[in-house]
Amino acid sequence: MGDRQAPLVEIFSSIQGEGPLVGCRQIFLRFAGCNLHCHYCDTPREIPDCCRWEKKPGSRDFQYLPNPLTPREVARRVQELNPALHHSISLTGGEPLLHTDFLLALIPLIGGSRQGIYLETNGTLPEMLSRVLTLVDTIAMDIKLPAVTRMAPCWPEHREFIRLARKKNIFVKMVVNEHVPPGELDEAISIIRNTADIPLVIQPVTLPEGQPGITPEKLLALQERALQRLKDVRIIPQTHKFLGQL
Ligand code: SF4
Repeated sequence: MGDRQAPLVEIFSSIQGEGPLVGCRQIFLRFAGCNLHCHYCDTPREIPDCCRWEKKPGSRDFQYLPNPLTPREVARRVQELNPALHHSISLTGGEPLLHTDFLLALIPLIGGSRQGIYLETNGTLPEMLSRVLTLVDTIAMDIKLPAVTRMAPCWPEHREFIRLARKKNIFVKMVVNEHVPPGELDEAISIIRNTADIPLVIQPVTLPEGQPGITPEKLLALQERALQRLKDVRIIPQTHKFLGQL
């Protein structure tokens, strides 16, 4: 695959369902592929043959475009979704930073939204972030807890990532479940606190049946512990799922 092409899963208009910008209208570019294997991931791992593109914002009328796509092809589809109607353009995945060469070519072509480019990332690829940092406006960065992902910790990667990302408008999102031990929460808090005072969003893991995988008491206990060392700690679930949004 050429450097300047990338596989996408979908391009569509919807509301942001997670984090402090919940409810803001965005154009979503969902990139295929990820460097992690989180236990709770609901994104298919296969690279799809086609990217589905919503022809009019909110219509859910899709056309299928063969993968991979060029930056110009994607920019043209974004333009047809009327960026001016939208708060921002969300680069999501998968992990969009796996496609930095593509992003470097694409982002200058997709202006016109009200608040620019919103990067949603797992926060583990700092070298990739450094290449596109000047082109993004808001960064929604994950800190991955091993008790939830069932993977090895990514503390050094997260630490370096947040050090770079703090130059932008940034918040951290942390998916939690009933089994998060205090030590993992404390490590994540240290990473945030040692770098800057960045808002932390605690997001309850969503079970396949749509229920949160954590009790209300545990959620409040995690927030209380985090509030002892951070200024802004919010509990925000995945709202788009119960609204039937993409
Ligand atoms: S980082 Fe996101 S897309 Fe990648 S495996 Fe984890 S949940 Fe899935």
